Amino acid sequence: MIMLSLIALVIQLIFGWLLADFLSGVLHWAEDRFGPGREHWPVLGRLIFTPNLLHHSDPTLFLSAGFVERNWTTWAVAVPLAALLFWLFGSHPWIWAALVGGAFANEIHAWAHRKTLAPSWARWLQGRGVIQSPAHHAVHHVPEYRRSYCIVTDWLNPVLDRIGFWTRIESQLPQRWFR
Ligand SMILES: [Zn+2]
Ligand SMILES: [Zn+2]
Repeated sequence: MIMLSLIALVIQLIFGWLLADFLSGVLHWAEDRFGPGREHWPVLGRLIFTPNLLHHSDPTLFLSAGFVERNWTTWAVAVPLAALLFWLFGSHPWIWAALVGGAFANEIHAWAHRKTLAPSWARWLQGRGVIQSPAHHAVHHVPEYRRSYCIVTDWLNPVLDRIGFWTRIESQLPQRWFR
């Protein structure tokens, strides 16, 4: 009985972690594909699109920012989203896992750009793909920046890239949206 509930807990935690990974991919894809040419937009342009484009041209620049400066825009999305899930479903381990994964998504991303920033336990997790490894994230940083948008783990991107997930979504949307 204890074993069964332990397995159920682990499944929930993995599900929540992958949900955070997937949502990080959706947001990153939106930033990369809708942002270019819209940097002048109020709020989104200044806070999201411009720093994101800057990250492609100068990938290590965001490492010089402080922890809060690097992560607060992600928190602004992750916290209300988790609050909505808590309200809809109540408190469950998968929502907590998704919240932690979401809240730390950009910090995990920063560790993937500079391994020495990561604590030793995080480097151990990078080696297993539980959090994204530098080698895996490097796949995204190849112009045209059109694959491997998820930034939390090494696990979802290969599946989404293989099935052409992002290009399929784009083919269903008005092409004038993209730059
Ligand atoms: Zn990108
Ligand atoms: Zn990056």
